[in-house]
Amino acid sequence: MTETTTTTNDALFDRARRSIPGGVNSPVRAFGSVGGTPRFIRSARGPYVTDVEGVERVDLVASWGPALLGHAHPAIVDAVQQAAARGLSFGAPTGAEVELAEEITRRVPIAERVRLVSTGTEATMTAIRLARGATGRDLLVKFDGHYHGHSDALLVAAGSGLATLAMPGSSGIPDAVAATTIVLPYDDEAAVEAAFAEHGDRIAAIITEAAPANIGLIAPRPGFHAFLARTAHAHGALLISDEVLTGFRVHASGMWGIEGTTGDEAPDILTFGKVVGGGMPLAALGGRREVMDLLAPLGPVYQAGTLSGNPLAVAAGLTQLRLADDAVYARLDAVADAITAGLTDALAAEGVEHTIARVGSLFSLAFAASAPRTYDDAKAQAVFRHAPFFHAMLDGGVALPPSLFESWFVTAAHDDAAIERVLAALPAAARAAAA
Ligand code: PLP
Repeated sequence: MTETTTTTNDALFDRARRSIPGGVNSPVRAFGSVGGTPRFIRSARGPYVTDVEGVERVDLVASWGPALLGHAHPAIVDAVQQAAARGLSFGAPTGAEVELAEEITRRVPIAERVRLVSTGTEATMTAIRLARGATGRDLLVKFDGHYHGHSDALLVAAGSGLATLAMPGSSGIPDAVAATTIVLPYDDEAAVEAAFAEHGDRIAAIITEAAPANIGLIAPRPGFHAFLARTAHAHGALLISDEVLTGFRVHASGMWGIEGTTGDEAPDILTFGKVVGGGMPLAALGGRREVMDLLAPLGPVYQAGTLSGNPLAVAAGLTQLRLADDAVYARLDAVADAITAGLTDALAAEGVEHTIARVGSLFSLAFAASAPRTYDDAKAQAVFRHAPFFHAMLDGGVALPPSLFESWFVTAAHDDAAIERVLAALPAAARAAAA
């Protein structure tokens, strides 16, 4: 039995800080920008999480994305239990991982070959190595505030926890590595053209979040990603579309399913995570066959993992994807419709200036008159309103991402009762935000 005997959030946080830096195993969990004690979760089911004090809340974090069908979906739990009974890890190929790769390709046909890894960070890190291997070039273009995990080259001007903590980047990154990353403002075609005009023959790839969602959500301008692909290709570089957060969430086929780009306008490599693992540590990269086949053992780009394609994680991911049919995506959209409408009504009633950005069922709130389009816009909003808003929601029984720079995640398990609880909590939170 691994359940802790410490039973209050405050006591656990005190205890946690004596053994774990900051008391958390990932910075965004720390309540850094909102203050107070993180809630230690005892269990989660459907749209709800229950903390160690027994307080149940409607969850709009969904483990930061994976829980597309809600927490502890019975079919996923059953699939994992059955897989566990057959063995936890083999370090050898399995039939189920082939089926998962096939399911990813079925949904995103431009991912002609798929490699399974364990985290989104690994997926993007490998994608970059692959792009460098494919082009024989070093430089990488990324966008200001985009978060692609915590590998060295990608922690330059990143969003998510860095944005929450107002950190410009991480220490511990060698200057030589940071110097291989060119950071550009998002949404700025002239900046991309200028970077390629100056360094075009040294750029291996552009990496972009398929829909930037780690500085609040920014709905991509139609055509911008096709422009990135054309520009990269014209200079012999690749486009990496990071769908770790958007993949199989914003649409059955991810952001690619919404944009539908092909040929010269399509990304060469896509990365997936979160939903694809069904709540277990699993992520993937996929792409054009001739690029992907450069990976070892076929090609010279090395990548490996003791637990890659772990049978429990594959069972969870495959079960979730197979269950995520049109009705699930329609429900996710309906949940997002109801919550965003309630959010707008409550904030408008208190005269709080705000906008809501949305892609599929993914959305985020900004305390600003117009939707932020860049990291600078996101930072310029009335950030101070977030902490009182967040805590009022928490007190009202709703767990939101504890950062204004993160998107809200709904699940298909958010039924009308769960939505009602969110709507009921909003007026007091809007009043708190207005104060
Ligand atoms: N890429 C994007 C767009 C993400 O949102 C994240 C995590 O939030 C990652 C990559 C990194 O994934 P992981 O946390 O699984 O390493």
